[in-house]
Amino acid sequence: MTTMAALDSERIATLSATFSGRLLQTGDEGYDHARRIHNGLIDKQPALIARCRGTADVVDAIALARETGLEISIRGGGHNVAGRAVTDGGLMIDLAEMKGIHVDPTARTIRAQGGVNWGEFNREAAVHGLAVTGGQISTTGIAGLTLGGGLGWLMGSQGLAADNLLSVELVTADGEVLNVDADSHPDLFWALRGGGGNFGVATSFEYRLHPLTHVVGGLVAYPIDAAGEVLRFYRDFTQSLPDELNVSCVLAHAPDGSGMKLAALAICHSGSPEQAEKDLAPVREFGTPVMDALGPIPYPVMNTILDAGYPRGALNYWKSSFMKTLDDGFIEAAIDRFASTPSPMNAILIEHLHGAVTRVGATDTAVPHRETGYSMLLPSIWMDPADTDANIAWTRGTYDTFRPYLAEGRWMNYLGDDEQTDAVRAAYGPNYDRLAQIKRTYDPDNLFHLNQNIEPA
Ligand SMILES: Cc1cc2nc3c(=O)[nH]c(=O)nc-3n(C[C@H](O)[C@H](O)[C@H](O)COP(=O)(O)OP(=O)(O)OC[C@H]3O[C@@H](n4cnc5c(N)ncnc54)[C@H](O)[C@@H]3O)c2cc1C
Repeated sequence: MTTMAALDSERIATLSATFSGRLLQTGDEGYDHARRIHNGLIDKQPALIARCRGTADVVDAIALARETGLEISIRGGGHNVAGRAVTDGGLMIDLAEMKGIHVDPTARTIRAQGGVNWGEFNREAAVHGLAVTGGQISTTGIAGLTLGGGLGWLMGSQGLAADNLLSVELVTADGEVLNVDADSHPDLFWALRGGGGNFGVATSFEYRLHPLTHVVGGLVAYPIDAAGEVLRFYRDFTQSLPDELNVSCVLAHAPDGSGMKLAALAICHSGSPEQAEKDLAPVREFGTPVMDALGPIPYPVMNTILDAGYPRGALNYWKSSFMKTLDDGFIEAAIDRFASTPSPMNAILIEHLHGAVTRVGATDTAVPHRETGYSMLLPSIWMDPADTDANIAWTRGTYDTFRPYLAEGRWMNYLGDDEQTDAVRAAYGPNYDRLAQIKRTYDPDNLFHLNQNIEPA
């Protein structure tokens, strides 16, 4: 039986004798930087931050939490908008310095540690002319994104990030280090592909890679007055896309800071340049863009084209849902709501799911959302804390206006902090009960609960 003990300086000294990373408390240099994450609205103060350097550090940090009863949070890339990577008064297991990456070009596999982000990951894979589906922004962590499924530019041809996962090194609640794959722990491996941070601390991930150097990608933007035509064109165009072509549609502001509102298509074609030109002919022929930046670019560059719109430390509040279709009513509502958005960094983003993502069964992995359709995201972002109430109110109001057009499913990775049990159930869908059974096996005490939580059955 575990006996609770206080977190005193003696315990920290005992741990630091062998800990290869850093142990940070209030007042220590680096503490404030480590506790702040991507979303500047999150301002929590962990009692201790364990900046781990390896698996043994993670094992020791979990043991300390068990001994002292401190609440655990796990930080991979720190992008979760709900801010569950940080705990107030607990122990933050911080993998930000675990940056090891190794590519096996012959086997076309990559193993990367839990603190790696997609920019770092893509750079190493690209050295070998290889890539795999990752997040659309280069600064997002591979850990949280993959454990939550992971949609991205390449998903039409390669599936989700989680669909390419081969194995995970996982430290469980009782401190055991498991190499989890389809053969050794099939149930747990199933759960890790979409079940989030519920089952342990993932210290490294192994993925399958695919040959890819360049894509034809970029933004094509139209005046906001043309938003109705752009959204309707997008709806028609996405009815029959080849797997290689991924297109999102966004109502946003010009990236030059002018505040000009735009309707834009964000495009990534991962087939040959000749095929891309053929498949993109309808875009080339449509409308009168004010900006056309579509062309051949290295895939790692594609992964950065939207980065500037998501700066670290900006204030974020997001809402999202799946949509089966883009009704005319929704299109009108989107244009109307966007006209009153209080921040020039807010957007209404529609992502399209098709191809390889939809050829995996709803219960084959823990990600149930395998239907062709759309994910609607309101990534509201602003800089001045004085604007917080207005932005949260606009985001909630917009989401409420869209409700009649939304489907039931929710993308787990996009859930915000005020989304409760219903949203979590909608995110895990028909897989919730099986996930809860697996949770009972590997984390019966719900030690890992700062996440989109699955309660042990
Ligand atoms: C700018 C931006 C762009 C995004 N783009 C995409 C996108 O293209 N596609 C997409 O699917 N999602 C996207 N997301 C959502 C993103 O996938 C989630 O926020 C995800 O949780 C981020 O992972 P992280 O490791 O950076 O986050 P963190 O905040 O570090 O982690 C989030 C949660 O994941 C769990 N976790 C993290 N690391 C580990 C680990 N090593 N072991 C066990 N559990 C862990 C923990 O529960 C933690 O609370 C985006 C988010 C942002 C802010």
